[in-house]
Amino acid sequence: MWQTVLGEIELSISKASFTTWFKNTSICEINQNEIKIAVPNIFAKEWLEKKYRGIIISTIRKHHPEINSISCHLNNGNNDKKNAGSKSVDSVVIKNNNQSLDLSGSKKTAPAPAQNRGYGESAFYSNLNPKYHFDTYVVGSNNELAYAACKSVAEDPGVNYNPLFIYGGVGLGKTHLLQATGNFIENKHKARVKYIGMERFANELIDSIQASKAKEFKNKYIQLDVLIIDDAQFLSKKEKTQEEFFHVFESLYQHGKQIIISSDRPPKSIPTLEDRLRSRFEGGMMADISKPDMETRIAIIEKKIQEKNFYLDRQIINYLAENIYHNVRELEGALNKIIVTYQLRNAEPSIKGIADLVEDLISSNRQKNITPQKIIEAVAEFFDIKASDIYEKGRKKQAIRPRQVAIHLLRKDLSLSFPEIGQSIGGRDHSTAMYANKKIIKELDSNKILQDQVKFIREKYMIY
Ligand code: ADP
Ligand code: MG
Repeated sequence: MWQTVLGEIELSISKASFTTWFKNTSICEINQNEIKIAVPNIFAKEWLEKKYRGIIISTIRKHHPEINSISCHLNNGNNDKKNAGSKSVDSVVIKNNNQSLDLSGSKKTAPAPAQNRGYGESAFYSNLNPKYHFDTYVVGSNNELAYAACKSVAEDPGVNYNPLFIYGGVGLGKTHLLQATGNFIENKHKARVKYIGMERFANELIDSIQASKAKEFKNKYIQLDVLIIDDAQFLSKKEKTQEEFFHVFESLYQHGKQIIISSDRPPKSIPTLEDRLRSRFEGGMMADISKPDMETRIAIIEKKIQEKNFYLDRQIINYLAENIYHNVRELEGALNKIIVTYQLRNAEPSIKGIADLVEDLISSNRQKNITPQKIIEAVAEFFDIKASDIYEKGRKKQAIRPRQVAIHLLRKDLSLSFPEIGQSIGGRDHSTAMYANKKIIKELDSNKILQDQVKFIREKYMIY
C-alpha cells in the first residue's frame, strides 16, 4: 500500500523533494484510523508532518477512506537519544538496514582533532573554518531543501543522502552550508572530515603525481569518514583529475562514507564530466540553492547586522534588500561597507547616504545584460502601448506615465546619467528626466499600486 501511495506522491511533487523526504520511509503501524510512518530523521518527520500531511492523507484516503490521520516516527533507535528533549519521539524502532558509516567504530580509531594530528599532510587537516555554522545561516524558500539535506547529513553522515550534491550560483551560500555541515559532523561525531575545493584537490593531485606520490595522496583521502568537495565544476576538462577523483569517490562510497559536493551548476551542465561521475553525482541527493527572494534578503540583512551589533532602520533595510539581489555576498559586502563607514563617522545612516554608499553595487546591473531597450519594452508591454511611444518625440497622453516609469527604471537599474536618459527617450532634455525620476520616487513612497507595477515590470527584465 505504501508503495502505491509513494508512487502517486512521486508524480505530484518534484523529484528532489520526493527523494529528500520520502525515500527510506515505510509504514510502521496502522491503527484503525491512523497510519504511523517510519522516517529516517527528525527533519523528514517535521517536513512530512508540516508540509506534506495534506497530500499524504488525501493520497492514502483514495485507497483507504477510513484513514484520517498520520504521524511520523523516527525509525532509528539512536535518533531518540540524539533528539531527546526535542518533541516527543516515539519509541518505534525499526531496524535500519542501510549501510552506515560505523561512526562508533571510527570513534575509537579517530585521530586527535585536526590541528593536532601533526601529519603535516594536508589530507589530514580538515580545512574547516569554525566561523561557519548552521545557526548563522538564514533559511528561505531558495535554500530550504539544501539546508535540510545538509542538516540531515550532519546528523547521520553516510546514511541517508549519499552523495549529497548542492548546486547554485556564486555567493548564494554553498560554501557556508558545506562548512557548517563539516563543523557539525566533526564536533558531534568526532569523525575524520575533510573540506577541500576541487581546484586545490586537482593541484595537489598533480603535485603528487609529479613527485610520484599519487598513491599516497589517494590513500589519505580514502581514510576519511567525510569528504567535502567544494566547487566541483572545476572538474570540467580535467580528465586525469576526474579519473583519480572517481577512484577516491568509489572507495569512500563503497565503505558508506559520506561525500558532499558543491558546484555552481548541476552535474549534467558540467562540460566534459565523465558519464560515470555524472551518474554517481546524480545518484544521491541533489538540492539547488537559488537567489534569495525579498523576504529572505531582509532576514539575511537583519541577521548580519544583529551579528555585528549594528542597527539599521526598516526603511534602509528594505532599500538594500530591494536593490541588491544578485547574491548574498554582494549584500554582505554592502553591509560591511555601511558598517565601517558609519562607525567611523559615528553618524546615523540616512537613506540618501546609504544609497550613495552602495551605488556601485547597485549599478553593477549595468553588466547584467540589461539594456535601455529592454527596460523600455518591458514598460511599454506592461502599459500596453508601443515602445516607440516612449522613446520617440511626441506628446501622446497615454505615454506620459509609462515614460516616467521608464525614466525611473533607466536610472535605477542602469544608473544612466540624466542626459543619457534624455537621449534614450527621444532626445528629451535632461531636466525632464530628472523631474520624472524624482516624481516617481516620491510617489513610490506611498503609492502601493505604483510599487507593484514597478516590481512587476522589473521582474520582466531582471534575472533574479
Ligand atoms: P558560495 O560558496 O555559494 O559562492 P558562500 O557560502 O561563500 O557562497 O556565501 C557568500 C557569503 O554570504 C558568505 O559570507 C556566507 O556566510 C553568506 N551567506 C550566503 N548565504 C547565506 C545565508 N542563507 N544566510 C547567511 N549568510 C549567508
Ligand atoms: Mg563557495
